[in-house]
Amino acid sequence: MGEGEFCVVCGATGRPLVDGVCPPCAAERARLVWAPRQGVVTICPHCGAREVRSHWERAGSSRLLTSEDLVPFLEFHSDVGLRRVHWEETAATPNQREFLGTAHVVFRGIPRDVVVPLTVRIVSKSCPDCSRKSGRYYTAIVQLRGGEDDRSERAAELRARLEEIWTSLLREARPDSRKALSWTEELPEGWDCYFTETLPARSIARLAKQRYGVPIKESSSLAGRKHGQDVYRVTFCLRFPRSVRAAGPPAARRPPAEMEQ
Ligand SMILES: [Zn+2]
Ligand SMILES: [Zn+2]
Repeated sequence: MGEGEFCVVCGATGRPLVDGVCPPCAAERARLVWAPRQGVVTICPHCGAREVRSHWERAGSSRLLTSEDLVPFLEFHSDVGLRRVHWEETAATPNQREFLGTAHVVFRGIPRDVVVPLTVRIVSKSCPDCSRKSGRYYTAIVQLRGGEDDRSERAAELRARLEEIWTSLLREARPDSRKALSWTEELPEGWDCYFTETLPARSIARLAKQRYGVPIKESSSLAGRKHGQDVYRVTFCLRFPRSVRAAGPPAARRPPAEMEQ
């Protein structure tokens, strides 16, 4: 910028110029934020996962659309830095939502708020995980049983005791273990817990071994062939003697209440 150069629009001097125009004037004249087309968000109605291009993510998230869903539909002038967008829903039908977004941006050093209308269509589609679950697909079973020798425990008591142990294990398990658990079946001798993936089933069986000192008895059977490969189903049998009771949540792992925000 040379001495005495001035904005060709407002005549101001002492401002950085791009093509002869100062930032405030450029911000007035340029399109800073816009939504080029209607957005489409594909949501799994069972788990809330979103389909993004060719994969699914964010299973377990809310069905409500958030900034994470909406911001990707916006486009920005190349000199714009986005701080955040505040969204207000202005109309809703079962399959469509209308929003007014207020984008707080910085354009060539100047903060600006830009209001952008956006319409989003919602498509419901079962994700592969949920489709597999509804088709009762499984690759592994974790069997919960009583101790080998205590036949005296009544079936209802046994199941209740095992259920408490299982609940405490699930609470402590990694999220992918909980996610891969498809369904459980009540049996006279305990519970069968069906998993859509084997590794998470193995990891929860190991957690049981670690927490309760019970051995894991692993067996597998040929379930069929898929893509020219043998497919095995793995069973992890866990026997909990009558003296074993569900452990409470491990105190050391729980953050104090004020940190849970
Ligand atoms: Zn100007
Ligand atoms: Zn799903």
